[in-house]
Formats: sequence, structure tokens, C-alpha cells
Amino acid sequence: MPNYQKIDVVLDMLGCPNRCRHCFVGWRPNPRLDEADLRFAAEAFRPYAQDITVYDWNREPDFGEDYREKWALCQELSTVPPERFELASVWRLARDPSYAPWLKSLGVRCVQLTLFGGEALTDWFTGREGAYRDILRAIDALMEAGIAPRLQAFVNKKTVDELPEVTRLAEALDLERRCGEIGPPFVMFAHQGACDGEAENLYPIWPTSEDLEKIPQKLVEHTLRHFGASSLEEAFGQEERLLCQELLEDGSTASLGQTESPVLYVDGEWNVSPNFGVPKGPWLLGNLKTHGPEEILRRLAADESPAQRVRATVPLRELARACGSLESRRLFGRGDYIEYLLNRYCEKLEQEASR
Ligand code: SF4
Repeated sequence: MPNYQKIDVVLDMLGCPNRCRHCFVGWRPNPRLDEADLRFAAEAFRPYAQDITVYDWNREPDFGEDYREKWALCQELSTVPPERFELASVWRLARDPSYAPWLKSLGVRCVQLTLFGGEALTDWFTGREGAYRDILRAIDALMEAGIAPRLQAFVNKKTVDELPEVTRLAEALDLERRCGEIGPPFVMFAHQGACDGEAENLYPIWPTSEDLEKIPQKLVEHTLRHFGASSLEEAFGQEERLLCQELLEDGSTASLGQTESPVLYVDGEWNVSPNFGVPKGPWLLGNLKTHGPEEILRRLAADESPAQRVRATVPLRELARACGSLESRRLFGRGDYIEYLLNRYCEKLEQEASR
């Protein structure tokens, strides 16, 4: 029986109000799981680790009306308490006046909000009309509770010309001064995200080197500070053609399943995947109800999901040869690019198998 140091069990109990076009976890239907389901998931994995941390969400945190009870339940089921990170429900911040004070009571100092430019573009990328207005309401609610909003702006060819809207908003709301007054310094940053999950569909509009010049100066300064980078090139990574060339000479493979502390996503149909992959298709390790926890953990350790198997057996030069581009100037961090190639390669294998 495997004995891990810690397992994080992350159950998607209620899903998310949004359908973001950059979404890493994907657009599955919203499940409706209950307390007994969360207990089941926690107890299934508990025997296999010294410690366990339980989360009741892997899409929108605190989406359900009973978010306080769910938070208390996760604390009760965990031997190492769950973290808040900088994440909270924007949907709820805009609708529930008692939510931001509750976050504050937990010690939350900063909450991240995602913008893509102005109202229409942010609504479109978030996949929901009214998303931008919710963000404005959320900023008010956070500031009132003494929590700093942190703005992240996604950069691609469709958003880059609208990024001045993000800096204009920060200036119009005087966020730099107001955040300084309540404690944590104001943070905003731009990045391209990872090209996986729904974001794979954004590859045709992925940012290229020349787009970096269009990012407003104020946002550049904040971005460099946030990432501790000396240049935007350092923050956004290299052009695909250079990364691809480099990987064409790399014969290495990697075992991803060797970890002391796995983080496992469990979706509303009980499919389990590791957090280092996209929670779908080739990354799935099995179904908790039908395969059970021991078999799932065995598959994880043995690199038996199709995506892990590819990464463990197919050299990077083959992934680059099959799915990379020596012409593309799109920008990627090295790790994100390898994951992009791996996902593309797995899709290719699936297509070939279905012919
Ligand atoms: S990115 Fe987050 S907020 Fe957007 S659809 Fe995915 S889980 Fe929901």
C-alpha cells in the first residue's frame, strides 16, 4: 500500500458560473455533490498518506450558499488545513455582502481578479455577460473589507490592444493609493497563461514577441515586479521556434508520477487526474468509484495515464518534431511549452487510434 507524505484531495463539488476561454480545468457541466461525497473522497485517500488536505472546489471556490460550512468541513477532514491562495468567488463577492468580511476574518489579504481588457472583451473571454460588472462590484466589496484586489490581465492578439483599459481602471479606482492605505501593496500583472485546457484553442491568437511592445508601461513595471523579472522576455519566455529548435536536440523523457505529495483532482463524475496535467482525457488515472484509490495511486506512480506514459517514454525531440513549429514566434515558458507539446501529441495519438 503506498504511503505518501501528503495527498491533496480536490473535489469539484459545484463547478463554476463562468466558461473562461483560457480555462485550464475545462468546461464540464456543473456537478451537484454534497457533504457525503466530500467525506467519501477524503476517506478513500486517507489511508494512503500520513497527512491529507481536502478541498471542496477546483473551479470556483465558495460557489455554494453553504460556503462557510464547506470550509469548516474541509478543515475537519484535513490533517493539514487547506489554503485560501489568492482565490475567491468573484460571483459571490458581487452578490453576497457578508462574503468579503468573512474572507477578511480568515486572514485573506489579497484576492485575484482576471481581466482581458474592457467590459465587452472581459465578458467574452469569461464566457458570461455581466462578468466585468461583477469584477467592479467585487473590487468595491474587497476594498470595503480591507482586502486588496490583485489584477491579472491575459495577453493575446485579441486582448493586447485593450490592455490600457486595465491600467485605466486601476488609475480610475486609485487602487495603488487605496491598497497602500489598507496594507498590502497593489499588484497587477500581465501574462499569457498556459496553452492547455480550453486555452489550447487560443493558440492561433497566442502572443508573439512584437505584442510585448504594446503592453502599457505601467503594466510592464508591475509585471516585472510581480515576476521578479528584469525584462518582459524573461517573464513571457522564448519564441516557439527557439524552444522547438532546442527540444529537437533533447532526447530526455521524464517520470511525472514520482512524487511524495500528489495533488489529485476529482471531477463531478469521480474521474481522478493529477494536478500537473489537464483534468481530462489522456491525463485521467481512473474513476474513484469504479477503480478505487489504490489502483489510481498505482497508476499515478507507474506513469500509466496515457499522457504520463508518453512523457515517460517519448523523447522531447519526438514531441517537438511531431507537434512543434520552427516558424512560430509565439511565446512560451519552457515547462508550459513541453506540456503544450505533450497534450498535442496525445491528441494526435487519439485521432490516429480513432481512424
Ligand atoms: S478559469 Fe476558473 S473561473 Fe474561469 S471557467 Fe475555469 S474554473 Fe471557472
